[in-house]
Amino acid sequence: MLKIGILGGGQLGRMLLQAAANYPVETYVLENEDDCPAAHLCHHFTKGDIKDHDAVLAFGKGLDAITIEIENVNIEALEELESQGVKIFPKPSVLKTIKNKILQKEYYRDNQVPTAEFVVSDSKQYVSSMEHFLPFVQKKATGGYDGKGVQVIKDAKELDNAWDGPAVLEKKVNIEKEIAQLVAINEKGETALYPPVQMVFDPYLNLLDHQIAPADLNEKVLWKVEAISLAVVRNFRSPGIFAIEMFIDKQGDVLVNETAPRVHNSGHHTIEAHYSSQFDMLWRIMLGYPLGNTDAILPSIMVNIIGAEGCSGKVQYDGLAEVLSIENAFVHLYGKKETRPGRKMGHVTVLSKDKQELLHQSNKIKRTLFARSGTPSIQL
Ligand code: ADP
Repeated sequence: MLKIGILGGGQLGRMLLQAAANYPVETYVLENEDDCPAAHLCHHFTKGDIKDHDAVLAFGKGLDAITIEIENVNIEALEELESQGVKIFPKPSVLKTIKNKILQKEYYRDNQVPTAEFVVSDSKQYVSSMEHFLPFVQKKATGGYDGKGVQVIKDAKELDNAWDGPAVLEKKVNIEKEIAQLVAINEKGETALYPPVQMVFDPYLNLLDHQIAPADLNEKVLWKVEAISLAVVRNFRSPGIFAIEMFIDKQGDVLVNETAPRVHNSGHHTIEAHYSSQFDMLWRIMLGYPLGNTDAILPSIMVNIIGAEGCSGKVQYDGLAEVLSIENAFVHLYGKKETRPGRKMGHVTVLSKDKQELLHQSNKIKRTLFARSGTPSIQL
């Protein structure tokens, strides 16, 4: 039986392990928190820091393959393991490019992948000199995630808010839609594309509100999305699963925002809504089996269950039974003991042929299901 390790033990690791149970594979997880979401689902758990060179090296010795659930891992150790014959999905060279937003943007430019116009900045002082480039978005080179490390600089007054340090300054795009395209690529270079999903953000909370699949795109835009996604993935020359986030602007142009070289939040719906989920697909790739069927069984909507404002501590869920009574609603709780405002605690996917019905049900879920702490549950 192949021995495969996952760096990181959060919800992505957990859902990967749920899918691993169908295959002949012995699973290993490296993570600092020993009560993390993935800890109890793997065969072998190692407590350790995925950013630490020696911890990753020791973890990887003797494994056949390793994958990641987050890019912020020790890449040097993965390179050493790769040179010793451990397969890494995705290749460490890809992680290096993606982990740093400057290198990632340069990769798109060098491979003629359409992306928003940008310049590289090394200091707050440099940002101040870029008044002619306004309005733009400043993105820290490293360390940002879920919108942290990204800020819009609209006008000259806001130049004062600029952060110091290495960053990308990207022209602000007139966004019509934000979509994500999942692509699977195996070791033979064969690819499979899932239908793109649309990510709808809450403009006030600046958080993902819901994701709907498939995204409503005309044929020409869909064609561009698929061609661009394949270009992004093929040039990486690495097997794995890739989630390519893109903007469709008001002119119908498609611009790559960023790529995740791993299973991704934008693919959670594939567990119930598609024949082969993103998690199933990654095991097929790592174990050398044929790629799965990416077709949708039904259209779907996915809402994240986010830790409620003002609540920190031991989690309790309000409205769970009510949501479970919705037809074709599938609840995933990630098993995190503690909730915090904004923390991803779970998600719900609803399937229906009728898009209006999907929106109706997702609104109901958002009004019904809450991750709270401490005080007795409040009925809304
Ligand atoms: P993160 O890596 O933290 O998720 P992103 O680069 O995806 O950050 O940016 C977060 C959000 O900021 C995007 O989903 C989008 O809504 C907005 N954004 C990012 N870049 C631009 C841009 N060039 N123009 C307009 N909005 C942008």
